[in-house]
Amino acid sequence: MRMPIIAGNWKLFNTVREAQELVENIHGLIGRIHDREVVVLPVFTSLYPVAKLLEDKSIKLGAQDLFFEEKGAYTGEVAPLMLKDVGCSYVLIGHSERRKYFGETDVIVNRKVKAAIEAGLIPIICVGESLQDKEFGMTIDVVSRQTAGALKDLLASEIEKVVIAYEPIWAIGTGKSDNPSSAQQTISGIRNIIASMTGDESANKVRILYGGSVIPENIDAYMKERDIDGALVGRASLTAESFARIVKFEQK
Ligand code: PEP
Repeated sequence: MRMPIIAGNWKLFNTVREAQELVENIHGLIGRIHDREVVVLPVFTSLYPVAKLLEDKSIKLGAQDLFFEEKGAYTGEVAPLMLKDVGCSYVLIGHSERRKYFGETDVIVNRKVKAAIEAGLIPIICVGESLQDKEFGMTIDVVSRQTAGALKDLLASEIEKVVIAYEPIWAIGTGKSDNPSSAQQTISGIRNIIASMTGDESANKVRILYGGSVIPENIDAYMKERDIDGALVGRASLTAESFARIVKFEQK
C-alpha cells in the first residue's frame, strides 16, 4: 500500500504574507490528515516562515529546486542541507520549467537527486514528454530516458524512497489534462522501467504522481487508477478551496 501524496507547486507566486495565509487557509479546510500526505512547495524566501506555521500541522514542506553542492562559491544557489535546516522534507527536481528555462539536463537532475537523498530530503522527480514527443509516439521513450537518467547509480533502497511526478509538458498550465487511462498507462511504463533497475519489489514501493492541469473536477478519476499515487498540482494549488478539495480526493 503506497501512501498517496498531493503536492502543491506554488511556482513563482506569493509573498511571505500571502504564502502564510494560503497555508493557514489550507490547514483550516483540511485539518489533520493521516491517510495521505500533503506537501506545499513555496518559493525559497517563504520556506522558513511557512515552516514555522507548519510545526504543529500535518502538512509537509518542500522546495522547488536545490543545488547539488554542499557549500562554496556558488552565488545564488541553495544547498540541500540548508533546505533541511529550514524544515523541508521534500524537494522538486527537474520540473519541465527548469529543464526549459534553466538548461537542466538528465545529468544535472541525477546529481541533484543524489544530493537530495544524501541530505535526507525526498526528491519529487519530474518527467514528461513534449507535445511533439507525444505526436511522434515517443512518450514512453522520453519518460524512460528521463527516469533512468534521474535514478542512475542509486541503490534500490534509495530508489524506493523517491517520488516521480509524470507531467506531460503539454498538460502543464494549459487546462488540457491527460486522460486518466493514458496517464495510468504511461505511469505503469515508468514503474516497469524502475523495476528493470531495482526489481519489482522496490519498484512497487515508488510513489508516482500525475501532474498537468489537475483540478477538483478531475482528481478523483486519476486517483482511481491503479498506479497513480497522487498529484503534483500547479495553478489549482494557489487557492485554498481548490487545493483542499483535491486533497480530499476519494480513496481507491
Ligand atoms: C506544475 O507546474 O507542476 C503543474 C502541474 O501545473 P498545473 O497544475 O497548473 O498544470
